[in-house]
Amino acid sequence: MMAYILDLDGVIFRGSEVIAGAPDAVNRLLDSARVLFLTNNSTQSRDAVSARLNASGIRCRESDVITAGYAAAVHIRKRYGAQKIYPIGEAGLIHELKAEGHEIDEGGDEDAVADFVVVGLDRDFTYEKLRIGLRNILAGAGLIATNTDPLLPVEHGFLPGAGAIVRALETASGRSAFVIGKPNPPMMDAVIDHLGLPAHECTLVGDRLDTDILAGSRYGMKTVLVLTGVDTAESVRQSRIKPDAVIGSIAEMREI
Ligand SMILES: [Mg+2]
Repeated sequence: MMAYILDLDGVIFRGSEVIAGAPDAVNRLLDSARVLFLTNNSTQSRDAVSARLNASGIRCRESDVITAGYAAAVHIRKRYGAQKIYPIGEAGLIHELKAEGHEIDEGGDEDAVADFVVVGLDRDFTYEKLRIGLRNILAGAGLIATNTDPLLPVEHGFLPGAGAIVRALETASGRSAFVIGKPNPPMMDAVIDHLGLPAHECTLVGDRLDTDILAGSRYGMKTVLVLTGVDTAESVRQSRIKPDAVIGSIAEMREI
């Protein structure tokens, strides 16, 4: 059995748009292989991601999706049990934390201290959230980042990614975040757990060398870079991280 692990932003989607030819290409892969959707983006729940894929014509169940928010919630539960968490992130992150049994600290009680501050992309990020996050960390909370992507590719350019928010907390607190997302082990461990397949039967398709391609090659998977997201043919030439194949878009994806 072969499995394809597909990144979302820059591979299937660009902002709110579906990349041309992506649904047909993914459904072709699904005819003969397993497909797992893997995203460092924590803003949406797995359920919302699968609904979005279905609405785009791609066959997908909630259990076929791993987000960095879900992987963070699972990692914390497996290592520490149910914890009290101050989240800096959007509804999708909070949903996954609750689904794994964690308690959400809303940040209103100035005497309360969370076990962890968990940071993902938060498009409503404020100085007040930074202050409350810092207060918790200085009082002993651990700092966990869903991911540290600097950029999020959207329709006509880029938005600041979760990494920019994580850096603000790291700078203020003097601590380094424990990072869940690609290319780090917690996210990839979640992938291996879900698939139950040896890495050499897996092909990882992504748009970033320093997250997707690095993660896949570290785990002994085949790697394919698409040029519809962050990295370009030029950045491939300049990087020491080399994918097994480079294709213009996922529409050109054939079984490898
Ligand atoms: Mg991507």
